[in-house]
Amino acid sequence: MNVQKINQILSENNFPKYRLSQVLDGIFKQFASSWGEITNLPKELIEILEKEAPISSLEAAQDFEALPKDAAKILFKAKDGNFAETVLMKHADKGESGGGRKTVCISSQAGCAMNCAFCATGQGGFFRNLTAEEMLDQVLHYCRILKKQGERVNNIVFMGMGEPFNNYDNVIAAIKLFNGAEYLNIGMRHISVSTCGIVPGIEKFAKENIQANLAISLHAPTDEIRNRLMPVNVAFPIKKLLAAVDFYIEKTNRKVMFEYLLIDGINDSDDCAQKLIALMQKKLYHVNLIKYHSTSAALRVSSQARQTKFFDILKKAGVSCTFRRSFGEDIQAACGQLSGQRK
Ligand code: SF4
Repeated sequence: MNVQKINQILSENNFPKYRLSQVLDGIFKQFASSWGEITNLPKELIEILEKEAPISSLEAAQDFEALPKDAAKILFKAKDGNFAETVLMKHADKGESGGGRKTVCISSQAGCAMNCAFCATGQGGFFRNLTAEEMLDQVLHYCRILKKQGERVNNIVFMGMGEPFNNYDNVIAAIKLFNGAEYLNIGMRHISVSTCGIVPGIEKFAKENIQANLAISLHAPTDEIRNRLMPVNVAFPIKKLLAAVDFYIEKTNRKVMFEYLLIDGINDSDDCAQKLIALMQKKLYHVNLIKYHSTSAALRVSSQARQTKFFDILKKAGVSCTFRRSFGEDIQAACGQLSGQRK
């Protein structure tokens, strides 16, 4: 759904200004799935919109639902044939609307160039940046589905396919569409951007003067281990990365999430926990431990006992730390599993 294009159509065809409010209300409040569903629009405008401004830039190629029905995933096909995946997570806790929180995890790129060893997206290579419109259409898809169930999307995370800061301008434009009162109207504090550690992107994000959350895919407590898992660490090693995070905190005074996948024999030892504790000694640092979902024959999942021990060591040392629940492992929708391929 391209807001600019709609504006252009309205002005070129001399429709009165209030028609824009009706279009935006139809899309962002009623969550219409077709222009014809917006009943207060004149027939001639509906016909032009149908021809020139498709209500979605993405076509659903394949739908998946996780077994406990707490997650869903959709594979989208863009007009040029590229694929991107989007995940809906239904949390058990209570959100503002009374029902459990609903988080949509979106992709910012078709594929990814960063080649992280634990990630199915990275192993598939990079195709192209997604537009802000394509990111919005991923969220609108689940807004429409949830509306039919009397629910709504409460949170958006940029944790799907792609490195958001490699597509910086489109990601910022999408955040503004998610947050704008006339658009999706989702609070900035309910929008999170996760980066593998692109230092110039973090520094730029710090100066944006927006309240969206920042998450860092850390996954290792030393450069030696991180270089093995994440090639980005060669250009932006841990010291530089944390300096950029501190700059972000200084500018925003906002908490930063450090994501840490536990991988058997690689980063899950007691020694790694101690080294991570030494790094995480800042007030607004928070660690999110995550179960690794095997996407590579070379890496194995940490045992349950190891995961618990690692968490306990961090907790005992006073590190602000949570264990993030996994969603949709059986439909390859969990962290690191998105590949943008039909199953
Ligand atoms: S973890 Fe993120 S940055 Fe790394 S390859 Fe996967 S999608 Fe790209």
